[in-house]
Amino acid sequence: MYLETKQLTKKFGGLVAVNNVDFSIEKGKINAIIGPNGAGKSTFFNLISGFHPPTFGQVIFKGTDITTLPANQIAKLGISRTFQTTNLFEQATVLDNVMVGHRLRTESNLFDAIFRTKRLQREDKQCRDKAMEVLTFVGLQNITHKMITNISQEEKKRVAFALALATDPEIIFLDEPAAGVNPDETEGLAELMQKMVDYGLTVCLIEHKMQMVMKLAQKIMVLNYGEKIAEGTPDEIKNNEAVIKAYLGG
Ligand code: ADP
Ligand code: MG
Repeated sequence: MYLETKQLTKKFGGLVAVNNVDFSIEKGKINAIIGPNGAGKSTFFNLISGFHPPTFGQVIFKGTDITTLPANQIAKLGISRTFQTTNLFEQATVLDNVMVGHRLRTESNLFDAIFRTKRLQREDKQCRDKAMEVLTFVGLQNITHKMITNISQEEKKRVAFALALATDPEIIFLDEPAAGVNPDETEGLAELMQKMVDYGLTVCLIEHKMQMVMKLAQKIMVLNYGEKIAEGTPDEIKNNEAVIKAYLGG
C-alpha cells in the first residue's frame, strides 16, 4: 500500500467533517476525491498533509505512520499540496514567488542571511535553478519576470503547481486545481497533471468539474457529509446509486 488512511476522522466541535474514512492512493496514478460542497474533501487533505491533527485514525505512507508528524516533516517525506485558494504575492514576480516558497524550506539561518555566507549564496543559486526548473515544467518559462497581478487565473494555477513541485515531492495533492478557469484552460491544466504522472509522480486531486475527473482519474473516492459513500473507477462511480443520489439530492 502506497498511501493509506485508516478510519481517518476529524471533528470540529460537534461537526464530523471527516468520518471514519479508509482510502488508499494508487502510486503513479491520478486519484480523485469528489463530493458536494462541505463534504470534507479539503479537510481530508489537511489531515494527510499535517495541517490539522486528526481526531481519530491514521495516515500511513509507505509503511510509516505519519499521522502525528507536523506539516513541514510530511513535506520532507515527499508529500506536497496546493491550497483551494492560491495565496501568491501579487506584487512580486512569478520567479520570486516560487523562490520565496522554496526558500522557506531551506536550511539558511539569520547568521547566513546577515553575513551572506557561502552557504547562502549556494542556496540562492540552487533555489533559482530549482524555481526555473519547475517553472519550465509547468510551461511558464517565458513569463518568470511578470508580476502575479498581470498574469491569468490559469497561469496562477500553474505557479501554485510549480510551488508544490519545488520541494521534489513524489505525491502531490491538488485542491480544486481548475476552479475559476475556463474550459480551454482546464484542458491545459489537465494535460499538465497527466504530465506529472508521466514524469513519475502520484497525483491526488479534488475537483468539481465532473467531466475532467471522469476523463483524468483512474481511481475516485466520493465523500458526502464526511463519509466515503463510494470508490472505484470512473465507470463504477458513474453508475453508483449512492453517488447519483448524493448529487441529485434524492
Ligand atoms: P469541502 O472541501 O468538501 O468543501 P471542507 O473540508 O472544507 O469541505 O469542510 C467540511 C466541513 O468542515 C464543513 O462543514 C466546514 O464548514 C467544516 N470545517 C472545515 N474546516 C473547519 C475549521 N477549521 N473549523 C471548523 N469547521 C471547519
Ligand atoms: Mg474544499
